[in-house]
Amino acid sequence: MVAIPPRNGYCCEIIIVMPEAFTKARSLDSLEAEIHEIGEEIFQRAEDAAPPLLSRERWQQMAMEWMTTDEDLKGRLFRFIESLPRLGSDAEVAGRLKELVHRDNGHAPLPAALQLALAYKRNDSLYASIVAGLVRWGCGQSARQFICGQTPEEAIDFVLRLRRAGMAFTLDLLGETVHSAEIARGHVETYLRLIEALSRSAKNWPVIPLIDEAPWGAIPRVNISTKLTALAASIDHLPPAAAAAAMMPPLREILRAARSAGAFINVDMEHYAIKDVTLDVFKQVLAEAEFRDWPDVGIVLQAYLRDTPQDMGELAEWSRERGTPITVRLVKGAYWDSEMATARSAGLPPPVWTEKWQSDACFEESARIMLDSADVLRPAIGSHNVRSIAAVLAYSRSIGLPPRTVELQMLTGMGDPLKRALAGMRERVRVYSPFGDLVKGMAYLIRRLIENTSNDSFLRQSFSADASRTELLAKPGQR
Ligand SMILES: Cc1cc2nc3c(=O)[nH]c(=O)nc-3n(C[C@H](O)[C@H](O)[C@H](O)COP(=O)(O)OP(=O)(O)OC[C@H]3O[C@@H](n4cnc5c(N)ncnc54)[C@H](O)[C@@H]3O)c2cc1C
Repeated sequence: MVAIPPRNGYCCEIIIVMPEAFTKARSLDSLEAEIHEIGEEIFQRAEDAAPPLLSRERWQQMAMEWMTTDEDLKGRLFRFIESLPRLGSDAEVAGRLKELVHRDNGHAPLPAALQLALAYKRNDSLYASIVAGLVRWGCGQSARQFICGQTPEEAIDFVLRLRRAGMAFTLDLLGETVHSAEIARGHVETYLRLIEALSRSAKNWPVIPLIDEAPWGAIPRVNISTKLTALAASIDHLPPAAAAAAMMPPLREILRAARSAGAFINVDMEHYAIKDVTLDVFKQVLAEAEFRDWPDVGIVLQAYLRDTPQDMGELAEWSRERGTPITVRLVKGAYWDSEMATARSAGLPPPVWTEKWQSDACFEESARIMLDSADVLRPAIGSHNVRSIAAVLAYSRSIGLPPRTVELQMLTGMGDPLKRALAGMRERVRVYSPFGDLVKGMAYLIRRLIENTSNDSFLRQSFSADASRTELLAKPGQR
């Protein structure tokens, strides 16, 4: 609060509300040189680990770049991709494609290649069916970039390859916000079978100290992530107490199976409307006598939420009271556009920061709170932002935490050179690896496409020739 001295007999008081992250971040100022040094090393190593020019990874990068050049076309393409699994024949695909990319006069013409591809007159012509086939294939390829397989067997193959490359994994079954009790039950059973099969197989995996050991000792090799809205039906439509009562039994079942198999379970964080109930369910179940002394569990906090520094402090307090540490994965949050739209349509202030730098600053501040409580919160961060990662590593070093106290987590199909760079720096890197049915995974895929094609995305900016490393590594709000 800033008080302006009285003038002309009137006293005026102006209340300036700044993100708390911004006001407290001064304590991190002294680390800027170290953050830049760590960031430079990550960038250099990532550049050395960049994919060759003709690789699939490089083509995927270029496709994402192309999608970002035209916002209107991007929105239409995403809607098309979302509807694709529901379309039957090639003629239906061809028709929908034409409909979606049909432009009103006010828009720039479609790229020439797209105009040529859509030059068919009849949706049931041979040419249209070739285009439909190619489009299906292309969308499948782009979906597969972000998932590690469709079956548990494919997923297990993928995670074994990761381990051979010196990276740990967390497997997630695609599917969320389910509305059928049968589907929810199917998810729980798939998780139970996965935990059992993976844990049996893991007994034969050679120990890789870099990823299987932390400063506090051995960590489970099998790591599973789950979303509570996948485990019980229609959570969104229930009042909080009923939603909690529906989510607890399947969560207990999964935790019980994991505990007896020696696996780790992480509860992902979803949209804001269920943030508090997710935290309550997690805290209540983990405080029960059966789980109270078990450390192999984690939860996610999202730094794009204004609540997060406070939630982090409360989680640390709760964990201290429980008497056994938990893992916290700090991310920025994947639902920014929908949180803004929901708040706007309800006429309410958004729960998220509205400027990208504020989320970045809140991430650094929340990470500081997490690391200051590293005795009760085992820290993990989920980010592909070199500045955010370097800031967390610099702070961890500055308070004397041992190497690899912080686990660095990234998503399948994003920032692969970064993963290789950080593993090369002897950091513990874990790759979030979703698997399962593409239709059920459509919401996940669309979130990844939105994220990868956003103008504010760090990864996207770092591909651009215009951005210098110094700029990319600048303190949030000072670029
Ligand atoms: C291993 C892993 C697990 C994850 N688990 C979860 C999870 O459980 N729940 C979840 O929600 N997300 C999860 N995520 C996704 C994560 O939130 C996004 O990948 C992340 O937001 C991208 O952040 P970044 O630091 O990589 O990139 P950056 O480009 O630095 O940040 C992008 C993020 O900034 C925020 N942002 C963008 N524009 C604005 C704006 N105008 N104002 C304010 N903020 C803005 C958004 O959160 C956006 O996603 C996970 C990510 C990883 C790597």
